[in-house]
Amino acid sequence: MTWVWTLQEGDCTGCGICADLCPHEAIHMPPEEAYPSGIVDLCTGCMICVKECPFDAITVWQRASGAETRVLAATAR
Ligand code: SF4
Ligand code: SF4
Repeated sequence: MTWVWTLQEGDCTGCGICADLCPHEAIHMPPEEAYPSGIVDLCTGCMICVKECPFDAITVWQRASGAETRVLAATAR
């Protein structure tokens, strides 16, 4: 299983709370940027960012390798 996070930019204020609280450094808040970014593969799915974001701007997803295989197969056709 792979965990990834995605951002709904229209809901994000760039407050940086998610970056401060992520225990695995999967989210960073570059000072010159409007939105957080990061290495989504470092996400462990702990859901802290989802629970603590005041604006519900982050979603964390779990992707099964089988599902990824099916997506790739569909794209290849
Ligand atoms: S905590 Fe929410 S609103 Fe704040 S930077 Fe993170 S995603 Fe954006
Ligand atoms: S779910 Fe946890 S590990 Fe993943 S980005 Fe959010 S706080 Fe970081």
